[in-house]
Amino acid sequence: MKVGILAVQGDYEAHAAVLARLGVEYILVRTPADVAGVDALILPGGESTTQLKFLTEEGLEKAIRDLAARGGALFGTCAGTILLAREVKNPAQPSLGLADLVVTRNAYGRQVASEVTTGPCKWKDRPLEMVFIRAPIIEQVGRDVEVLAECAGQPVLVRQGRVLAATFHPELTSDTTVHEYFLKMATDKSQATWEPEQTETAR
Ligand code: GLN
Repeated sequence: MKVGILAVQGDYEAHAAVLARLGVEYILVRTPADVAGVDALILPGGESTTQLKFLTEEGLEKAIRDLAARGGALFGTCAGTILLAREVKNPAQPSLGLADLVVTRNAYGRQVASEVTTGPCKWKDRPLEMVFIRAPIIEQVGRDVEVLAECAGQPVLVRQGRVLAATFHPELTSDTTVHEYFLKMATDKSQATWEPEQTETAR
């Protein structure tokens, strides 16, 4: 399986560092040809408006849609989640619509608020450390969306088929669980919803 990290803007190097720690080879994706060569793609955090501009201008938007259509796996963090959503509000902007999510961008006022917090994660037996940086809020999830982790009663890690989306930054903590989940999900095409082993307390 070939893994790519969208590297037009944002904290793609932090994702690269996690994959390197896990011993997973990756390429930095900047062109439609790069996207055509991968089976899984990470869309990093950063500034979604700037990223969207690149996606549109460089033909990456279509390439990412094509990747999704051929069964590729996608993982968005923060701005990446904004790009993947069905609808983006406050302020509104176009998006790929590859996950049935409605997200609010300026969820924390003027986008200056950042916090590190922990919250229970559905498939883990311990709290997951979550770094929120000017994070969007997932306001609505579609029927086919599975909420994997919540924080303060709101979904912060969700999955729909072969798309995984987090409003926090798992690439900025030492816990590699979310990336490992994505890699397993990307590899295992046999199941629509792959779940790691669970303990009773993790449910
Ligand atoms: N709120 C930012 C945006 O609209 C995303 C912040 C982030 O990725 N850390 O793009």
